[in-house]
Amino acid sequence: MNDLPDFITENIYKREFGFDHYGQGPNDRYKTFLNERNLKKFLRTKTPFAAYISVAFYNEPRHRQDWQKSEFVIDIDAKDMPIRSCGCDNVCEICLNEALELARIYIDTLKGDLGLKNIHLVYSGRGYHIRVLDKFVMGEESEFRGEVLKYITGADVPTNEIPLGYTNLFNNRLVRNIFHITGKEKIEGINTKLLKDIKKNRDKIEKDENGNYQLGIFKGEIGPRRYKNLLDGIARVNLSMADGKVSIDLKRILRLPSSLHSKVSMKCVEVKNLDNFDPFKYAVPKFVEERKDN
Ligand SMILES: [Zn+2]
Repeated sequence: MNDLPDFITENIYKREFGFDHYGQGPNDRYKTFLNERNLKKFLRTKTPFAAYISVAFYNEPRHRQDWQKSEFVIDIDAKDMPIRSCGCDNVCEICLNEALELARIYIDTLKGDLGLKNIHLVYSGRGYHIRVLDKFVMGEESEFRGEVLKYITGADVPTNEIPLGYTNLFNNRLVRNIFHITGKEKIEGINTKLLKDIKKNRDKIEKDENGNYQLGIFKGEIGPRRYKNLLDGIARVNLSMADGKVSIDLKRILRLPSSLHSKVSMKCVEVKNLDNFDPFKYAVPKFVEERKDN
């Protein structure tokens, strides 16, 4: 039986835990556990509504003192994505799938562009947490983390149009958003008329023989000034596809990924296979019961 991922159980005594016993948010913080067994026992006997673990490692986790390092986290909440094609009020199958698609895109960039390897994806119940434990980022302060997030999400308009490096990254994020626009979004600098014209002309975007997007004809249809408004608006939107406050917070606590049988277990699990994860299949109590029987 292995209910907690290895990246959670390793040096567990250096982490701070928090619990929600009444369903109103974490009210019991500064908890620590010497080992995995003690934590499991606590979860089984207290069956908290939700359990949380710090992204930080401390020499004194009980007092949140003598900070050593923290995971780097990208938090994608399906409900808070400013562009999503479903238009639902909360979360649904469509926006959860789009959050997963975005997580895959970010993970590809973390691996391909930054060379990071120790990356875990966790389904949070409302979206996804990308949790990075590479040495390269764990010792860094908030400012550095903010810069990494800006790069990964494509939060700056590129300074040139040469289809290489960051310009390609930005164009990929841009085109993805263009094809997810419903027309009902509220995006600073992009009015309803422009949204309508973007939708009308998006099929004019093509790929060249190298797989890079060709935006020239689309830009011509929209008009250069309004195209610039689009780029500025999308750059801002890109940054808010993830919750930046989480990425820069060195002492944040996040939902504990676990399939242990408690109320929390149906909400938060590690995604082992990125290609065919289905939250509706894996993160329900039935699955937990099946696992228990094995
Ligand atoms: Zn939805």
